[in-house]
Formats: sequence, C-alpha cells, structure tokens
Amino acid sequence: MKPQTLLAGATLGVMGGGQLGRMFVHAAQRMGYSTVVLDPDATSPAGRVSHHHLHADYLDTRNLAELARLADAITTEFENVPADALAQLAAHRPVAPAGEAVAIAQDRAREKAHFTRCGVRCAPYAVIESEEQLALVPDALVPGILKTARLGYDGKGQVRVDGREALVAAWDGLGRVPCVLEQRLALAAECSVVVARGAGGTLVHLPPQRNLHRAGILAVTEVFDGVLPDALAQEAVQATRSIAEGLDYVGVLCVEFFVLQDGTLVVNEMAPRPHNSGHWSLDGSDVSQFELQVRALAGLPLVQPRQHSPAIMLNLLGDLWFRPGADAPVEPDWPAVLALQGMHLHLYGKSEARPGRKMGHLTITGASPVAVRQAALAACDVLG
Ligand code: ADP
Ligand code: MG
Repeated sequence: MKPQTLLAGATLGVMGGGQLGRMFVHAAQRMGYSTVVLDPDATSPAGRVSHHHLHADYLDTRNLAELARLADAITTEFENVPADALAQLAAHRPVAPAGEAVAIAQDRAREKAHFTRCGVRCAPYAVIESEEQLALVPDALVPGILKTARLGYDGKGQVRVDGREALVAAWDGLGRVPCVLEQRLALAAECSVVVARGAGGTLVHLPPQRNLHRAGILAVTEVFDGVLPDALAQEAVQATRSIAEGLDYVGVLCVEFFVLQDGTLVVNEMAPRPHNSGHWSLDGSDVSQFELQVRALAGLPLVQPRQHSPAIMLNLLGDLWFRPGADAPVEPDWPAVLALQGMHLHLYGKSEARPGRKMGHLTITGASPVAVRQAALAACDVLG
C-alpha cells in the first residue's frame, strides 16, 4: 500500500498496547488523529487512552481485519509483534515500519548480518542452532554472552558464560533454541541513536544518547553536549543512517551501541520503534520521538528535532514501590519529587507494580548539564 498524507481526523493504528504505544497515542491525539490499539491485555497502558482498543491476540485474523478497517495506517510499538500480522495488514493499509524490517530486528542473527552488510561493526559472534555449531564455536568468543536469537528484552534470554562447559549448560538452560554467542566486550559506555525516516527517504535524528544499564535494564539516559566525544557521536549517527537506509526503513528506529574501552564504536542491537532511551525527547526536544513516529506514519514532513534543554531520564521501575519493611507496594513520594525544579513525571497507568517492571520515567531538564545532574541526584535522594 502506498503511503499518502493523512491529516487530522484520520485514524492511526498501533500494534501493541504498552507504554510506547501509549505515548504514541498521546502524540497522535494531540495532533488531531483518532487512534486504535490492538493488544491482548484489556488493561494495556495504550488501550486505556486510545479511542478504540481491540483486545485480541496479534495473529487473530478477525481482529486484524477490524484494525485494518478502522485504521488508515498502522505502526507497531512492540518488536515481537509477529511479522506475519504486519504483512497481513500491509495488504490493506500502509504499515510502517514494514514487516520485513521488523522481522530482521526480531532475530539477532539476521540483525547482525544486516549490520555487517551495512559496514557497521558488531561484537564477534557465532550463531548456535545445533550441537555441531556449538562445538565449533571459536575460543575467542568465551567469555561471552549467550543470547536467544528471538524474544529477548531487558536482559532476558541472556546468560553470561565463562567457559565451554558453562556454554553447553547455558544453551541447554535456554531450551536449545537458536542463539547467538557474543564475545563479552570491555565497555566504556553505551549509547543509542533514534532516527525517523520518511517514505521519500528523508531522515532526521535525535542527538546521540548516553545510556546506563543496571542488571540488563536501561536505568539512566543522559543527553547533552559532552556526554560522548563529538567524533563518536557523529559516527553513531552515520552508522544508524546506514542501517536505516539499508532496510529502506520508514518510521522510527533506534540503534544501540557499545563504546569500547579503546574508544571505538560497536553496534549492539536495533529496535524498530521509539525506544526507552529516547523518552527524554518528550520534554527536552521540540519534536519528540513519538511525534516523529506520527509524522512518519502520516506522511507528514520530518524536520530535524532541536534539543532545547540538557536532559536526564531516569527509569522508574516497580522496585521503587517496594519500601524496606513494607509488606505491600507503596506509591513513591511524587509530590516531593515534583517540588524540585525541572521534573517531568510520566507514569504509564500500570495497575500493578512489580520489581523490574517499567512503571514510568522521570525526565529532568534544566539550564545546564551541571544543573540537571544535581537535580537528578536530588530526585534520587527523594526516591531512595
Ligand atoms: P536486550 O535486548 O535485553 O536489551 P542487549 O543485547 O542490549 O539485550 O543486552 C543488554 C545489556 O547487556 C547491554 O545493554 C549491555 O549492557 C550488556 N551486554 C550485551 N551484550 C554485551 C557484550 N557483547 N559485551 C558486553 N556487554 C554486553
Ligand atoms: Mg538492549
């Protein structure tokens, strides 16, 4: 289906009802669109705020047909949406990103082959789908990280292995599903780049973001001058551009990178959608990653976003709801956080807090990097 320009009043559809879908819905509604969300969970964060919510499985043919009937164009917020479902929808409506790009991003082996094809270096790796391949893994890949080729997120589906015996046990433990084994690299830092690309090939990007992970989950993103050396930041943008163009991508794409201790850049993975590390753009940029997703889907112009404030994003995980000694979850002290300057609180409307669950995020903006760092520390003090 050829994309056309959709104006206010049209309906934009999204596969997936998580927080990314919710923020997409908010951006779409602000610009006058109606929205429809397809998600199996009746209480999904995006479903709750959308004009229409189809709660059905992603492969339910009847509901996919209903989504195609209601929506003028469809995007995804969840990378594990079956590529088949996107292909079914694409027979009726413009779908961005395309199912094929999403299918590549869903499979670490295909993803790495794509990076290599685009001339972007990734960690040395081997694909493991059989005992023979397991036995042939080069010594240089251990110590390594064994990752399931599909369905991993937030560090799930990954095992650190220090020797061959551990590798064999880890592959068993992961159910002998197709995996990639990556050499464990000495990281100096991690960063990511969010780009949006239109059907005509126009590409714009957010500034490279520096990310800090805890236990495999993004904890903090910092975005201001100096978080990364200029040359490295430019290289990351250029690499992301090559990866997006190589996919003939339409929509918002995030590419995650490692900065090694020798100062070089290595690509880690990509997400075919807005990304947690781009959430700061809702408060620190004149165009957010969700507005970019709306614009790309609706065929509206993509203009280069301008960051208007240094920003730090803190993820609010469910752990914050569990105070030492309390036997039930307790809402954190938001009034105390909001009494500080430059706080932008985003809560996703999830009914139940669980450790490790992304409940919301806090973006801190301010006049200078020093000011936002001080405010972020003050917010952490309040949150404990
Ligand atoms: P997920 O899909 O769960 O985000 P990632 O592949 O991004 O999985 O891994 C999560 C985190 O684990 C990374 O952000 C990084 O901190 C660490 N990590 C992953 N792969 C490697 C590696 N090859 N070497 C060192 N650290 C790694
Ligand atoms: Mg990751």
